[in-house]
Amino acid sequence: MNPFVSPQTLITGEGVLTEVVEQIRKFGASKAMIYADPGVVKAGLVTRLEHTLQLGEIDYELFTDVVPEPPLNIANHAVQVLRKSNADIIIGIGGGSTLDIAKACAVLSSHEGKVEDYLNLTGTKKLVHKGLPKILIPTTAGTGSEVTDIAVFSLDTTKDVITDPYLLADTAIVDYELTYSLPPRITASTGVDALTHAIEAYTSIRASELTDTLALDAIKRIGKNIRTAVWNGSDNEARKQMALGSLQAGLSFYNAGVAGVHALAYPLGGLFKIPHGESNAVLLPYVFEYIWPSCLGKMGNVAEALGLKVDHLSDREAAIKAVEELYNIVKDVGIPTTIKEFGIKESDIEQLTRDAVKQTRLLARSPKAYTEKDIRAVYGKAFEGKLKLN
Ligand code: NAD
Repeated sequence: MNPFVSPQTLITGEGVLTEVVEQIRKFGASKAMIYADPGVVKAGLVTRLEHTLQLGEIDYELFTDVVPEPPLNIANHAVQVLRKSNADIIIGIGGGSTLDIAKACAVLSSHEGKVEDYLNLTGTKKLVHKGLPKILIPTTAGTGSEVTDIAVFSLDTTKDVITDPYLLADTAIVDYELTYSLPPRITASTGVDALTHAIEAYTSIRASELTDTLALDAIKRIGKNIRTAVWNGSDNEARKQMALGSLQAGLSFYNAGVAGVHALAYPLGGLFKIPHGESNAVLLPYVFEYIWPSCLGKMGNVAEALGLKVDHLSDREAAIKAVEELYNIVKDVGIPTTIKEFGIKESDIEQLTRDAVKQTRLLARSPKAYTEKDIRAVYGKAFEGKLKLN
């Protein structure tokens, strides 16, 4: 059996931010706690939300101290602020970093202890109820966090997650307009992140027909529009397609899982503080260079979804073309294609490998198994920057 799970309400469209008022009323809530970060405040998106809430005569409190790739101290501070307030509904508006903080706060409002007590790898406590209702509003396209039950936190040298169905949003509002202000580099990294979600979900051993449909459509939308969205950010159609693709990718990977790219990317983010999207992007071609023979037919479909001409090609040839195109996309949107460009030394590969091996939850979904030696070899290829596909 493959149950498909998503937030109860999903609202998509241009300008649909205003729907937030109706959603808050639906829960009978009287005061919202809004989570955001300074970048989203600067882009004027929090002001827009505040304006909407004021028109709807809804009381709110602001927490705008979220930082990208949030560490535990920021998450715990956000929880403390909520516990002292009388807010009865949570709104997260921002990228994945903010949405993850909002989710953790909503559940921990009614649990004891700290965020680290509930982490997947080292936590000792279990979530036993849902906490406050939550409305998640993404402004990147993106992590898909608005439709997953995962919250990711940075530790000293790696990352860990709280993952539990109680973290799932009650309502996700995907207003394409909120992504228009994304600068090129963040459009690029978050866009490749969404593409990675779709391709990893499509090739996951837990994929189903439904997640495949969403993932392939996401790959099409993102493959066709990512270069335009990065280099001509005022192309609203490209922005819309990226936002929709990111949502589809999120729904797909939440139900099918992500795998090797994420497992190897977490230590890059943790040890070297590389943004999540960039650490996925730099590894994406090399991980698929390693796994493509294990998912040949599907990689042929990926090639077609990415808009490549595959009519007269064998599955093998099409799969290889797909991996090459992943490399081209990363390069074309301006993200480094080697880990050494991020200042990583060859001698760091040992530590990266030791940390990636621990990501067993993620590695287990790969269609091709990894030994420690395989992981070391993939990092080695990503260091050298050479795809060897034939
Ligand atoms: P982010 O939330 O870290 O934001 C990156 C930067 O973009 C910030 O400076 C922010 O202010 C800025 N920004 C966001 N929206 C903007 C806009 N519309 N205009 C201008 N600036 C804007 O970026 P992200 O990539 O969305 O999130 C990364 C985090 O999400 C990582 O911690 C990652 O591990 C996590 N993540 C979570 C999930 C999940 O399912 N929960 C999935 C993937 C990644």
